[in-house]
Amino acid sequence: MANVFLVGAGPGDPGMVTLRAKEIIETCDIMIYDYLANVDFLKWCKAECEILYVGKKGGDHTLPQEKINELIIEKARSGKIICRLKGGDPYVFGRGGEEGEELVEAGIDFEVVPGITAGVAAPAYAGIPVTHRDHTTSVCFITGHEDPTKSESGNNWAVYGQSNSTLVFYMGVGNLPMIAKNLMENGRDAETPVALVRWGTRCNQTSFVSTLENVAEEAEKRQWKAPSIIIVGGVCSLHDKLAWFEKKALLGKGVIVTRAREQASGLVNILQGHGACVHEFPTISVEHLDDYNEVETAILQLARYQWVVFTSVNGVKFFWEQLAAIGLDSRIFGGMQIAAIGPATAEELKARGIIPDFVPEKYVAEHVVEGLLERGIQGQDVLIPRARVAREVLPEELKKVGCNVTVLPVYETKLVQASSKEIEDAMDKGAINYVTFTSSSTVENFFELVNPDVFRQYPEIKIASIGPVTTKTLERFGFTPSIEPEDYTIPGLVDALLMDA
Ligand code: SAH
Repeated sequence: MANVFLVGAGPGDPGMVTLRAKEIIETCDIMIYDYLANVDFLKWCKAECEILYVGKKGGDHTLPQEKINELIIEKARSGKIICRLKGGDPYVFGRGGEEGEELVEAGIDFEVVPGITAGVAAPAYAGIPVTHRDHTTSVCFITGHEDPTKSESGNNWAVYGQSNSTLVFYMGVGNLPMIAKNLMENGRDAETPVALVRWGTRCNQTSFVSTLENVAEEAEKRQWKAPSIIIVGGVCSLHDKLAWFEKKALLGKGVIVTRAREQASGLVNILQGHGACVHEFPTISVEHLDDYNEVETAILQLARYQWVVFTSVNGVKFFWEQLAAIGLDSRIFGGMQIAAIGPATAEELKARGIIPDFVPEKYVAEHVVEGLLERGIQGQDVLIPRARVAREVLPEELKKVGCNVTVLPVYETKLVQASSKEIEDAMDKGAINYVTFTSSSTVENFFELVNPDVFRQYPEIKIASIGPVTTKTLERFGFTPSIEPEDYTIPGLVDALLMDA
């Protein structure tokens, strides 16, 4: 079996990577990646994977190609699994062919994992199908940046100028005036539509459509930069009609997510689905307790309780983990009444075969207690598995109505000791539009990490709070959220952001 893989990482959208590529990223021992490969994928690498960056950005070469080839071969000889990750497709202007030849010459087996090339994906995300029966019968992929050591152009401008082919130029921004001129001189109509798509498929995608005659000037005016795909041909006229990605409400908006990394994926995925540039800045981490004796005892005496109230997804997860550790499962609850405070917690229970007897409409402790009273909780024995430190309102309110309440810590949340440099830089660049807070502890910890006075310097950044309790905590720090959903859930929070955007 080959141990070297030339892998396409796709055009940048984290969803545009193949299953095979993911499999190799997850199993490789050495990762050698390029500038245009989405670095999000590196999180799939094994902890012990050696990760090497050899990116080339414009003229700035971290390593010249010959050195990259040498590095791949040297690493490959170790017999370890090498993932050579490139943006888009490895064989489309990726010099993957050259690397393959070097490997063959060195007698090393390799495999290729094609990727979605930017020349197809970036136009598609800009509403431009590269072929369309009304406009063209072919498409050409062309380098806009020929090897400068070549004496003559390999590009046959006469052919490009006379055909009706859609022309897709890679690496062409710097040569745009020359490209436009050559095409017009060789017969392409000056009115032919031309589109430029920068950072295609990513949350920071931008594009514009012009004509061969005006495009160079227009790009200059906009100070247009690489990495961009240039598309020439009638298909570009479909840009407005077929736009879908650029219509996304949060496209290009920077959103900070302060949730614990373990919990953030739901929110992050929804936000990304709406086009947001998500900056994960976990302020809390969810951790095991040092000692689970108390939990074990409570589980073994579970029959004492008539009610078990789960207040969070983590409460469910950690409780079940201990249940499994003792060799028990959901049957232990027997005919007991179970409540879930919120829909996500209810889903977590359903995944374990438990349909909660009570899920409040709104999570405000007073309402919860009211609902529980209607279901006859008064005076009963109630177990609340939850975080070590949490608000006491629910247990207090239940005690007031004569319940015998046991609060059982099953996990704890800790302040993450992260540097705030990256997000402060992003705030400084104006790249952040929203900060989301999904609990009081995210607020408290955020302001442990980011000085409130520093944050105050960016009044244009909008604060989104999940609900009134979190809002109170924000107010304690002197901030008033401009976004608070009616429904105190993650989907509610996202809806409120969409309304605002
Ligand atoms: N192998 C890559 C291309 C590498 S050449 C692929 O198949 O996509 C680098 C050029 O690709 C850039 O200069 C730019 O023209 C183009 N490119 C790569 N990713 C891009 C993106 N997300 N948006 C626009 N252009 C991109």
